[in-house]
Amino acid sequence: MSEAETAHILVVEDEEAIAEGLRLNLERKGYRVDLAADGQQALERVANHRFDLILLDVRLPEVDGFEVCQQLRGENNFTPILMLTARSQADDIVYGLKLGADDYVVKPFDLAELLARIEGLLRRQAWKRKPEANGKEEEAPELERVPFGDYWVDFRSWQAKTRNGIQELSRKELAVMKIFVTRPNQVITRRELLAEVWELPNHPNTRVVDNVIVALRKAFEENSWRPRHIHSVRGVGYRFVF
Ligand code: CA
Repeated sequence: MSEAETAHILVVEDEEAIAEGLRLNLERKGYRVDLAADGQQALERVANHRFDLILLDVRLPEVDGFEVCQQLRGENNFTPILMLTARSQADDIVYGLKLGADDYVVKPFDLAELLARIEGLLRRQAWKRKPEANGKEEEAPELERVPFGDYWVDFRSWQAKTRNGIQELSRKELAVMKIFVTRPNQVITRRELLAEVWELPNHPNTRVVDNVIVALRKAFEENSWRPRHIHSVRGVGYRFVF
């Protein structure tokens, strides 16, 4: 069983039926689960335990999910937070992400999607926790062979099954793919890629990013104009879909 599957998750949800349902399904997946019924309880739990992920409902009595998130980040606690919001308004989602949530799922949620988001956040976290100071450019043993569509990327051997058979990816290509597969369905901005892969957060020229995307599409897309996996988000960046 991988590290991600034995992760310890705090579920913060005041609706008991939903909380118990989540606990059941997460435990079935092999996760360890604690429940907190309100924001105050959540903050107390987090003060006393190190969780691998917090599943945080926004609508909570007393201290709401936004406040929990803000307080934790204010205390330099960067445990990954997946927000559950009943409100699909872009404003609320943007607000939650600004306060430091890592991702969100809108209620009523699809269980398979929720589990995929959780896995994605945990994978990303496992990768970040790597001991090397310069971890971004190293292999990530936690991520092994990741399949998508007809292809796969192997993060140990740097090899990939592409349209042209087995190929070796460059460091940058591999690093971009790592970000994609650990954050599926999310908008990844060019700026984020520059910051995380090239360590150039304020660099004005995103052409280096575009060049790697062109290479990856050549490897993994039948038709670069109608990509199946590496989608463009106009003017912003990209979204990877498995
Ligand atoms: Ca609630």
